Amino acid sequence: MRYSLVADAYERIEATTKRLEMTDYLVELLKKTPKTVIDKVVYLTQGKLYPDFIGIEIGIAEKLAVKAVAKATGRSEEKIEADLKQTGDLGETAQKFLENKQQVTFFPQPLTVERVYETLDKIAKSTGAGSVDQKLNLLAGLLADAEPKEAKYLIRTVTGKLRVGIADMTVLDALAIAYGGGKDLRPLFERAYNVSSDLGRVAKTVVESGPEALKNFSVSLGEPIRPMLAERLSSPKEILEKLGGICIAEYKYDGERVQVHKNGGEVTLFSRRLENITSQYPDAVEIVMESLIPEKVIFEAECVAVDVDTGEMKPFQELMHRRRKYGIQEAAKENPVSLFMFDVLYVDGRDLTLETYPVRHKILQTIAKKHDRIRVANSIIADNPEKLEKFFEEAIENGCEGLICKSIREDSVYQAGARGWLWIKYKRDYKSEMRDTVDLVVVGAFHGRGKRAGTYGALLLAAYNPKKDEYETVCKCGSGFTDEDLANIPKMMSAHQMLHRHPRVESKLEADVWFEPKIVLEIIGAEITLSPIHTCAENVLREGSGLAIRFPRFTGKFRSDKAAEDATTVDEIVEMYRSQLKTIES
Ligand code: AMP
Repeated sequence: MRYSLVADAYERIEATTKRLEMTDYLVELLKKTPKTVIDKVVYLTQGKLYPDFIGIEIGIAEKLAVKAVAKATGRSEEKIEADLKQTGDLGETAQKFLENKQQVTFFPQPLTVERVYETLDKIAKSTGAGSVDQKLNLLAGLLADAEPKEAKYLIRTVTGKLRVGIADMTVLDALAIAYGGGKDLRPLFERAYNVSSDLGRVAKTVVESGPEALKNFSVSLGEPIRPMLAERLSSPKEILEKLGGICIAEYKYDGERVQVHKNGGEVTLFSRRLENITSQYPDAVEIVMESLIPEKVIFEAECVAVDVDTGEMKPFQELMHRRRKYGIQEAAKENPVSLFMFDVLYVDGRDLTLETYPVRHKILQTIAKKHDRIRVANSIIADNPEKLEKFFEEAIENGCEGLICKSIREDSVYQAGARGWLWIKYKRDYKSEMRDTVDLVVVGAFHGRGKRAGTYGALLLAAYNPKKDEYETVCKCGSGFTDEDLANIPKMMSAHQMLHRHPRVESKLEADVWFEPKIVLEIIGAEITLSPIHTCAENVLREGSGLAIRFPRFTGKFRSDKAAEDATTVDEIVEMYRSQLKTIES
């Protein structure tokens, strides 16, 4: 398959701000793609070579990419650098220089997807002495044979800046339309993806064996399952009503969620975003090896740092020190973790995700030996609001964030990849004012003036709407940033900058700069009000109005453990607004 077909599709997708058009272009591309490379095309559209959990990234530094462009076009690095300063996008610069190439390639070989993929794979896997030269030569070789447009997207792909805006759900939509006979079978596609976290494998299975074959996807060791998420309500009474009058209420520990896969002597830990984070937690791996009874098991736990002197749980930020390459052993000594198990998804060949929570909860009690660093999350069965409230207070006293209340009804399966009403979180109350924090996605920015000249004056922040799969703006935030934040944020955001509003961002405000929704910040505000200028929950409470957070302030916490889709949802903001009203009325 010619790579130019892929580049053409990117160009069209990138130019549209309409979701449906975007899906149509993707459908066209997938229909043109031969069976043998469908998985590769799917990974490439996401700027990847493999699903995230494999942990192989293309990652070429911009400096090296500049060298490759220079080499392929016969121009000096200085010239390329100078143009890059103007365009701010090496892809565009590469396209321009290839249009006026000074060096003629004899017998150019048109680029195929196969060759592009194999070469990028070699680049990604090349390590050790001589690898920089090898990467340079491989990339320059591709560029020398590339058409200008192809070069643009190749460069963006290798530097991690391919931002055509195709989300996982859009790929599933497009696959279902192209090969699954329309939307009816869409849930089958979603389940296959949710248990495997591998879009390429889903695509390959569908085109090779038909959508029915997706039924054979089941939970398997080594492939992370997309996590089940919780909704939120603000009173024990409402929670119990929603859950049918009775639930299992558990402590909500404030740590990092880990999905643990134990396969004999091998333990792998996946983060909430499904990255392999095994190397960050040597202490957790040790605990699992010492205590877990089944040979093969997948379970979920909250990993919490504990103070060695006092035995008290430490706040979540302590664990962020583990997000680095060096000094992990030291961090593990200083603040070793404990594991609080809260679900089990697989035991010795048995997929438990379609079992009810009472069944899973009972099995959970049996999978680990007694050990002082791992246990099942504290829980009770609650059937009245007073009991729930009392347990909530106890959880807060013991250093937890609140409770997660879980359905124990017939339909209480593990809803992989979904936020539903089977799990409801109950955090510190935010009754008369908004005392609770929210996690919002940066979608745009406004230039600063005066003291803030050269950096941003305010960021445009959005909540996530999972039903529409879009981001709806809820405030402009300029407070709470330290000087260091102000210096760093533009650098950090430049990797996500876009030429226009992202197609999945709904905004009535015109930002000076637009970003791909990626970065999540923790924000605290004073209250939530109806607003004609923000799109969060527009027309839900009142025709023509959305919701806005007033006096928002950055708490200093970058939620790098959260993907944009894990941000606070529009429904949660609606719920916070309603509960705030109730107290004003009462
Ligand atoms: P939030 O991050 O505020 O959306 O809350 C959901 C998170 O709470 C989950 O992703 C887990 O990391 C965490 N959590 C802590 N304790 C529990 C528990 N007992 N059951 C489920 N999730 C828990």
